[in-house]
Amino acid sequence: MPSPSPVPSRSGRGDRRSDFPGLADGWAYLDSAATAQKPGVVIDAIARAYGPEYATVHRGVYARSATMTERFEAARQTVATFINARSPSEVVFVRGATEAINLVANSWGNSLEAGDRILLSALEHHSNIVPWQLLRDRTGIEIDVAPLTADHRIDEDALEALLTPRTKLVAIAHVSNVLGSVADVTRIAAAAHSVGARLLVDGCQAAPRIAIDVQASGADFYVFSGHKLYGPTGIGVLWARSDILDAMPPWQGGGSMIETVTFERTTYAPAPQRFEAGTPHIVGAIGLAAAIDYVNTIGLGTIDAHERALATQAREGLRQINSVRLFGPENSAGIVSFALDGVHPHDIGTILDESGVAIRAGHHCAQPLMTVLGVPATARASFAVYNGSDDVDRLLDGMRRVTRIFG
Ligand code: PMP
Repeated sequence: MPSPSPVPSRSGRGDRRSDFPGLADGWAYLDSAATAQKPGVVIDAIARAYGPEYATVHRGVYARSATMTERFEAARQTVATFINARSPSEVVFVRGATEAINLVANSWGNSLEAGDRILLSALEHHSNIVPWQLLRDRTGIEIDVAPLTADHRIDEDALEALLTPRTKLVAIAHVSNVLGSVADVTRIAAAAHSVGARLLVDGCQAAPRIAIDVQASGADFYVFSGHKLYGPTGIGVLWARSDILDAMPPWQGGGSMIETVTFERTTYAPAPQRFEAGTPHIVGAIGLAAAIDYVNTIGLGTIDAHERALATQAREGLRQINSVRLFGPENSAGIVSFALDGVHPHDIGTILDESGVAIRAGHHCAQPLMTVLGVPATARASFAVYNGSDDVDRLLDGMRRVTRIFG
């Protein structure tokens, strides 16, 4: 197959790598599913926001704070537009996907009762498992798990068969962080709604590569982290339909989330402020908006196609190497997991690192999925806008070296 060329940059230098200071040393960084490198425009926006523009939001009577408040709320609008939310008031800023799911479990989830059911899938990240187990311990709900197809996608037929009138929530990953499998969110939403359940979508790995339309998708909750979308750490998004968000009680109390406070009684601000107790991650939100602007200049469709071509190149190359086992569907987003018989993925990762190739080795916070795959861990290469076919070549060279070393 023809090697995919790097995504062209506006600078005309032929690829996007030069936009990313973290890659200036020629690193073949293939761990973007863990966290993405940051483009200079994001780093600059953060530096400006912490420098000449810095002030608090929502309180200051001075001009700089008013300006900062406008920028913070403009960031919320940028997120809302990015996911096609009806209104920025449906966008809650949180620390990341993990906090977003914990928020839903601790607020919306508290209305569930013993005997109610939550349906997950076998490929979920721990952050879409453990908060529901904690809720189970508090409320006595039951957790069901949809199995995977032979090529490691969520088995949507089996998922539908597991729905019951007691199922109150279906919570699934849009894109698997281990396998790149893409779920049919619209189908799952319709199935969930047919029994009166809500759908929560973990969009951590989808947000950097698949255009999200929360309205068309039918999802009720959609969560993602900024740092996988070329933005800063410590900022993420919970989107929920406004009728759902408006009915949810606060989960953390403090400043900024109230209307009036007396020792007898406190009234709460409307969403999203009701869910944003304390001084928010002001600069994080601004950095996230800069990251979304950056991604929009390229287009998610272009990024996804580029990454899929790299994933195909990687899979085809890995298949030529004896004893390599590939996991996940052929038609995956830009994430490829593999194992080499008789070699621990950590050893693969260490040897690749010696030649400047960074992959992830481990259970990827998806231990139940490792059980399904029948391995304790996998090696994972994940692609982003700044990778090129030369990075895949270096991965494959490194893998041939691993096989030589281990005979
Ligand atoms: N879900 C998925 C699919 C992920 O890949 C991750 C991060 N690896 C998370 C949830 C958790 O994201 P965070 O650690 O940023 O909260």
